[in-house]
Order: sequence, then C-alpha cells, then structure tokens
Amino acid sequence: MAIEKLLIANRGEIALRIHRACHEMGIKTVAVHSTADADAMHVRLADEAICIGPPAAKDSYLNIAAIISAAEISGADAIHPGYGFLSENAKFAEIVEAHGLAFVGPKPEHIRTMGDKIEAKRTAGALGLPLVPGSDGAVSDVEEARAIADAAGYPVIIKAASGGGGRGMKVCTSPDQLETLMQQAGSEAKAAFGDATVYIEKYLGNPRHIEIQVFGDGNGNAIHLGERDCSLQRRHQKVLEEAPSPVLSQAERERIGGICAKAMADMGYRGAGTIEFLWENGEFYFIEMNTRLQVEHPVTEMITGLDLVREQIRVAEGKPLSVNQEDIRFAGHAIECRINAEDPKTFAPSPGTVTSYHVPGGMHVRVDSGLYQGYKVPPYYDSMIGKLIVYGRTREGAIMRLRRALEEYVIEGMKTTIPLHQALLKDPEFLNGDYTIKWLEEWLAREDGQ
Ligand code: ADP
Repeated sequence: MAIEKLLIANRGEIALRIHRACHEMGIKTVAVHSTADADAMHVRLADEAICIGPPAAKDSYLNIAAIISAAEISGADAIHPGYGFLSENAKFAEIVEAHGLAFVGPKPEHIRTMGDKIEAKRTAGALGLPLVPGSDGAVSDVEEARAIADAAGYPVIIKAASGGGGRGMKVCTSPDQLETLMQQAGSEAKAAFGDATVYIEKYLGNPRHIEIQVFGDGNGNAIHLGERDCSLQRRHQKVLEEAPSPVLSQAERERIGGICAKAMADMGYRGAGTIEFLWENGEFYFIEMNTRLQVEHPVTEMITGLDLVREQIRVAEGKPLSVNQEDIRFAGHAIECRINAEDPKTFAPSPGTVTSYHVPGGMHVRVDSGLYQGYKVPPYYDSMIGKLIVYGRTREGAIMRLRRALEEYVIEGMKTTIPLHQALLKDPEFLNGDYTIKWLEEWLAREDGQ
C-alpha cells in the first residue's frame, strides 16, 4: 500500500520530526493534540489538526478511542506513534491494524514480547544475544535465588519483571541480605506495578550504556546501524548521546551489530528497534529492547545518512528496506544534547513562555525542536523542549562544533539545560570519552560541592 495521509499520535519535537519526513515523501499529515498544545508548531504545520482532549495525557495522547476516531474522520491511512505515549502499547498497535490502518511500528506480538522483561530476556537469549548472567526467568524460592546468586557472583540485582523507568530494582551485596531484599523487592513491585514477580541478575559495577539501532522489513531481512553511547545519564534519564561510542572498534561494532541484525531477521522484526546493552570490560550484556524510534535516533542518522522515519514509513507500506548492510557506511561522529526546560543545577522544571529565540545553524548543525518566539511551554508533559545535534568528521571536531552551536543557541523566558551541556563539554574526562553510567551523577555531585 502507499500511505497518503498519516496521523501523528504524539506531540513536541518528535511530532514535528515525523511531519517533516512525511512532507518530504509527499504524504499529508494529521496532527492530533490536547487543548494545551493548540499552538504547537507541528499543529500549525500539519495539513489537518484535530483536538482530542484536555491536557492530561490519559485523556488525550493516551486516549485510544479519540485517536482512532480522529484517524477515521480525517481519512488517514496510517498512524505513527512516535516515542513514549502509546508507542509501545501492543493493544494500541492491534487496534490500529484492526481498523485497517498501517501502524508505523513493529508487529504487535513483538511489542508485547519485548515489553515483558522476563519474556524479552528469554527471547533475546534464544536469539543469541549475550545476556547478563542470572536467573532463567522468575525467582520466588530463596534457596533457588541463593544458588543463582552464588553462580553469578555477588553483588546481584533483584529486578521487578514489570518494572520500568529504572524503578523496582535492589542491589544485594551478600548472601545474608538476599532473603530480606527479595521480599522487599517483591512487595514494592506489587505495590508499584501490581505484580510481585522478580528475577535476579549479576550487578555490573561500572558499565557503559551502549545500544544498537536495528531495522527489519518484517519479512526476515534486517540490518544494524551501529551503536549509540548513552552512558551520560541522570536518574536513568539520558542527557547527551553520541555515535559512534568512544570505546568500540569497527570490528566490535560489526560483531555485536551482526548478532543483533541476525536476531531481528530470525524474529521477522518489522521497523525500527533498539537493543540496549550494558557494556563492561569489552563484553555486551542485553538489558532490554525498545520497539520504537528513540529520542536519540538523529545521531545515527548523522553518521549513516539514512532518514530513519522515512525508512519506518517505507516498511509500514510493505516495501523492503532501502539499503542493505553492505551499503551502510559509518562516517564521522555525531553528538546530541537534550535540552530541557529545567534549572541546570537543581533540575526543577521551568516551563514558561519563550520571550526570545535564536537557533544555531551552519554546517552540520541540526535542531529538532518545536519552539518559536512567543510559544508557551505547557507544564503538563516531559520537560524536553529540543535537541541539538551536530556532526563532525572526528569526535574532537564534533565537540568544537557543539560548543560553538551551544554558544549561539538563545532561549529566553525559562531556564534550560544549555549551561549544563556547556560545562560538560569542558570536562577532561568527557573529552577523553572516559565515562560510564555512573559518571554524570558523580560529576554533578562534584560540581555541586564546588
Ligand atoms: P528499566 O526498564 O526500568 O529502564 P532496565 O533493565 O533497562 O530497566 O535497567 C535500567 C538501568 O538500571 C540500566 O540502565 C542500568 O543503569 C541499571 N541496571 C539494570 N540492570 C543492571 C545490572 N544487571 N547491573 C547494573 N546495573 C543495572
């Protein structure tokens, strides 16, 4: 089928990103928005716009009935869910398809499998992805837990099967704490997620977060687009991402990328996906798979020259991937800064009206943001207001360009995390690429103490 009109079931920069890809493909767009987003840039640019409810996400961006109605009324033939909101909701994907619309995303059964942590780990193992040593599924018996922890070696981490967003995890350093922590983890998981199921993994002390971008056509063909290093995190939220990772060689990239691409081909995976690993001492350990486009996808686009949203739409139309693995060339280095409407020191949200706005430009500089002068950032949603992405032939060149672009970027009327990125880009350890997932929080604590 050829998609002629696509409904964008999201908001903010990603809604604009999808709109842009559609118009470059000659596809008309339908924006759906809450009352709080009536003035959003993507709503202004879309061919049609339909208000689907009040500000609270549960009544608008998560309101499946309202979104499907909007698709029917506007005559859209496809829905792109973006990231967050309904993007990893298997039921939503099924409903979209049951209405004869193309879902720009994976097959519902793959969303479901990867959304269940234990099921995802089992599937990943069966597909040949390297796993964190630990239990083979749920653990309820303490003696069994002891045997698993002894085999994996302490410390271990007890994780809630239904956990998410970095919640529902307990680190256990010795056998005598195991029973108590398992009980605590179970009852906390029950309270938070309505499911007491837990499993056990070896706790990696100081890993990096390295994820592999994959793409499948749904018919057994799949490729990888290399890695992104997303180790710079605060409270499990990514702050700055880069591709390639400062620590991987081309041979290592090809090896792990090849394993991931083969796994996706064997699975018959459709569309864009990200396989997340922890990486320590040269080894990869699968933690989860995200069955959607990621916030940080532009760094991959910069080093491969491929438009991932365009590719997603092509696959949703039933077309093959536009490239083979042999066509993919990784060139240069790209870095993305997430810019949040937050105090750069306390991270307190700082929504407000943009009183003055100037975007950086010039060679190899990309800004994905729906901001404009006079725009009022609503307080109801995620605080990310934009992404600044730069490309350079080398990592050093990309860093110099990023510093220059951050200097040019003016956003007045609210506090933003631009000063945080400027400070980070001066740190010698960051400049050496010498950081792990713990580094940023330690760095913030040091900066705070000064
Ligand atoms: P969630 O779905 O809650 O994000 P993940 O399994 O992706 O859960 O883990 C979130 C974060 O928790 C990881 O990015 C990492 O920082 C930490 N983590 C998870 N598993 C381990 C482990 N086995 N060892 C060390 N840290 C871990």
